[in-house]
Amino acid sequence: MFKIFSRSPVHDPIAKPKPQSKTEIRCTTCYMCACRCGIRVHLRDGDIRFIDGNPNHPINRGVICAKGSAGIMKQVSPARLTEPLLRKAGAARGEGQFEPISWERAFELLTERLRGIRATDPKKFALFTGRDQMQALTTLFARQFGTPNYAAHGGFCSVNMAAGMIYTIGGSFWEFGGPDLERAKLFVMIGTAEDHHSNPLKIAISKFKRAGGRFISINPVRTGYSAIADEWIPIRPGTDGALFMALLHELIENDLIDHAFLKRYTNAPQLVVLDEGEMEGLFAFDPNKGPASDGRNPHNKLVWDLKSGSVKPAYPEGIAAECDIALRGRYRLADGSTVAPSFQLLAERVLACTPEWAEAITGVAAARIRMLARELGETALHQAFELPIGWTDAWGVRHETTQARPVAFHAMRGLAAHSNGFQTIRALAVLMSVLGTIDAPGGFRHKPPYPRHIVPNYRVFNDPAMLKPNTPLNAAPLGFPASPEELALNDDGSPMRIDHAFSWEHPLAAHGMMHNVITNATRGDPYPLDTLMIFMANMAWNSTMNTMAVRDMLNARDGNGQFKIPFLVVCDAFQSEMVAFADLVLPDTTYLERHDVMGMLDRPISEFEGPVDSVRVPVVAPLGQCKPFQEVLVELASRLKLPAFTTEAGTRKFKDYPDFIVNFEHQPGLGFLMGWRGANGEKSIRGEPNPNQWEMYAKNDCVFQHHLPLDQQYMRNWNQAYLDASKAAGWRQRNDPIQLVLYSDTLQRFRLAAQGKTKGRQPPDHLRKRIETYFDPLPFWYAPLEVAQTDAREYPLAAITQRPMAMYHSWDSQNAWLRQIHSHNYLFVNPLTASHAGIADGGWSWVESRWGKVRCMVRYSEAVEPGTVWTWNAIGKADGAWQLAPGADESRKGFVLNHLITEELPLDGGAFSATISNSDPVTGQAGWYDVRVRLRPASADEAEVSAPQVAAVPAVPGVLGHAHDAVAYFAGRDDHDD
Ligand code: SF4
Repeated sequence: MFKIFSRSPVHDPIAKPKPQSKTEIRCTTCYMCACRCGIRVHLRDGDIRFIDGNPNHPINRGVICAKGSAGIMKQVSPARLTEPLLRKAGAARGEGQFEPISWERAFELLTERLRGIRATDPKKFALFTGRDQMQALTTLFARQFGTPNYAAHGGFCSVNMAAGMIYTIGGSFWEFGGPDLERAKLFVMIGTAEDHHSNPLKIAISKFKRAGGRFISINPVRTGYSAIADEWIPIRPGTDGALFMALLHELIENDLIDHAFLKRYTNAPQLVVLDEGEMEGLFAFDPNKGPASDGRNPHNKLVWDLKSGSVKPAYPEGIAAECDIALRGRYRLADGSTVAPSFQLLAERVLACTPEWAEAITGVAAARIRMLARELGETALHQAFELPIGWTDAWGVRHETTQARPVAFHAMRGLAAHSNGFQTIRALAVLMSVLGTIDAPGGFRHKPPYPRHIVPNYRVFNDPAMLKPNTPLNAAPLGFPASPEELALNDDGSPMRIDHAFSWEHPLAAHGMMHNVITNATRGDPYPLDTLMIFMANMAWNSTMNTMAVRDMLNARDGNGQFKIPFLVVCDAFQSEMVAFADLVLPDTTYLERHDVMGMLDRPISEFEGPVDSVRVPVVAPLGQCKPFQEVLVELASRLKLPAFTTEAGTRKFKDYPDFIVNFEHQPGLGFLMGWRGANGEKSIRGEPNPNQWEMYAKNDCVFQHHLPLDQQYMRNWNQAYLDASKAAGWRQRNDPIQLVLYSDTLQRFRLAAQGKTKGRQPPDHLRKRIETYFDPLPFWYAPLEVAQTDAREYPLAAITQRPMAMYHSWDSQNAWLRQIHSHNYLFVNPLTASHAGIADGGWSWVESRWGKVRCMVRYSEAVEPGTVWTWNAIGKADGAWQLAPGADESRKGFVLNHLITEELPLDGGAFSATISNSDPVTGQAGWYDVRVRLRPASADEAEVSAPQVAAVPAVPGVLGHAHDAVAYFAGRDDHDD
């Protein structure tokens, strides 16, 4: 319970407003989850009275969820920090002993420290952020500072979903694209419970179902969206890739594939060299047209024309109407090399992936897999239709209609958070491609600025010579490598980054690997850090694996008694578990107290029909001394005189964050926001800075939407008008077509290096086999790394988490309304499994993995397949954190599965003589859902309390602690008589 409940309510909403009361409505953008709906905040006399959805907002059209309307209670959360804090001299990290300091003192401390690091060894400063929405700014700060040690949370969230899809089709789900449910007839959702694109997806599913669409959910657990699916297909965690491979097998065997689409818009017909050597597995090319194709220049390729019996350039000759391009077969080129269309290799790959093979892995009956493949193929091909929308492709051919393929998929973290997730998601993207559902009506559709090049034209910083004092990086810390030469390695091949992202351990770690920072920094691997700044990430509890060990690491000291991570800065709005470990605490604002941008340089809220960006504007003043982290960064950057934040005269360039947003241009005319650019706000997308841009957003519901012409809304990988427009808008660097990558020569380049067949960079010997195995140019299924290392007889059950609809990760256990929905969590277990283990419904149980154990309460559930146990994510809290009262349900009954999950695995599967991150070997995505567990009942004499428990921390100075201005509602009863 909260201290809030001991206080008298201060408002009575059914009482008549005082005559002099001032009521007003201010529009801004919700941030109770990452969906970013438009909201209206209703105030009376400056107090927030309630929040509802903005009917004019393109994302949610007035719809609001439980979280969104409960934002009012986040504002008055007892856990709110209100002043900067410095750890008391001599206090251990984790004890939560602080003294308040002024902002000026905090800035002086930080500036002095960071200035020293920047002038000597900038990589010793690391900035890692949680689920923030300003990665363009944080990236810029790190790059300007000169450290490669930056990432946001993507590496432990869903980078596999982003990278697996982007390296295959140029876009992905959620912000990047999604299912066109308005025109789909069949919707297959896999690995999704509650989604990032929350309200819009709910709205779309409701319309889709009302229109008679068929909705199949494939998930180990029937929660969230699955509960309203027409059919739930339970599947074992981490096996989705096997299902996709079997579906591909069936579709190809039964010829339920879109031949015309594959030939024109994908690399399916392009010829792969089969002979051993440096070109093995790469695409054959025409030396007269330049060097061999690669991820940066993908167009010099060949196809086989069956009509003439000869080889042709892939385009435009190869796609000319008079050609009949081969998808199958083997051919010999004039230079004697043997080649095959990449589709032939795909067909050979899936040949052994029969439904029976997949049944043994997934638990889904072979007959059901066959039926699903038939449903997919027949809906895509035989229920197809055309929209009367003409468009012109990249080769100048006019198409008078747009071909619909009414099968839509949606997938998310259930696929991504496995160490086989990248190849699983590649398999899904290939499955979608053979059905022709890419940017097609009724299928998957991109959202601007997507699709990107394949490989995206964002190179990662990888030049050790440029890692020098007082010097910005010459590339961003994060990017998309296209070859081993683009990895972030030192000259001796060691990782350049503290998290080992973009090293041979995890070459395509496009979002960094935040989950390894503390472990590596404590070990000094590859070097020690000086200052680690963490924003909005609860690394001492639910945002880390191996929680108890990581808490120890945060407090670890070397032989001289010095902290192994010498200085730890935590910026958060609430007293999370992480705050207790900080040396310096910076109190952030809530989303209702600050300016924010969700723009095209970062993660906009675009729709299928065109780009959309949005902002937040403050609707109330910051509490106490809270300061937006954006302001902190702009202030620090200005004090440190980082070049982008400093005039040529050496003075400060930007007054504050709003000023920075308006005036920063990353190219002439292109800045953070698209709307109301130009001196008078008359331009959009590109234009000079407009000093009144914030006002214009505020007047227009905090959102700007640009509708693309109808002929630019589909087939955007190849739609010349869109490709031209996206280049002009600065979303792409080129306007060439983006062929879908069924067969990835980018992955093959890494494999060739591992096999020692290329002259360039090669992995160290101990990683050769790993790269050779997982950098397969064709998708394949393999058991997740941890599963393969675990004795299934000892630990027979998969353990996963799901995010509930009423809470966004750990954000809401301090929210008085939402914690009434989830104040603690259970482990949900199939009754067959639980009773077999001797555990009663509601009984206390131990859950044990190879790495740790938790004690928790079990709840029987038929809505989970028998080999899986699951719980809600991040409901359990450490005692005293988040200002929950001693003995609160969250800490005494709640628990987190993180204690069971390791952040490192033995490299060779055996002893821990060498370790490697428990992550996808391609992308570094954290393998959250790979842990295997066993259950045993707690004994009758054990305390009925979750375990492990940690010592309670005290309230930090200045924490709100109670809610002065809490709004209590009495509707429906007359409390005045009580
Ligand atoms: S879905 Fe997310 S952004 Fe939208 S109202 Fe709910 S919490 Fe807010």
